[in-house]
Amino acid sequence: MDTTSEPTPGQHQLTRQDDGRWYCTRCTWSWQRRPADMSPGGDGHISCPGVPRWTWDGRPDYAKTKTELYAAGYRPNGGPIGCFYRASKNTKPDPWIWYYDARTAVPRSRRPLRSRV
Ligand SMILES: [Zn+2]
Repeated sequence: MDTTSEPTPGQHQLTRQDDGRWYCTRCTWSWQRRPADMSPGGDGHISCPGVPRWTWDGRPDYAKTKTELYAAGYRPNGGPIGCFYRASKNTKPDPWIWYYDARTAVPRSRRPLRSRV
């Protein structure tokens, strides 16, 4: 059973803030104007990842990628808690980098290889 599966991107849950910006209660992202077309490739907007979206520098200290956890000898215990949108000129089906909670990560069953990083 895989409890760390990634969420399926979907529709934003938009609410209008007092300052006029549109805010999504699922991914916590906000826009100056209401995103008209949330479908992939539509209107320059992107679908909702379903978890908080952070900037690369804006993620909390405990938010780690799978790669970072593995390098430290851990694996995630639970689904993603947030994500980063990997802007790319190439059209890739999965533009999201998922973050997992390092505070609940568990040691990997096998001894981690010596990392060269
Ligand atoms: Zn959203």
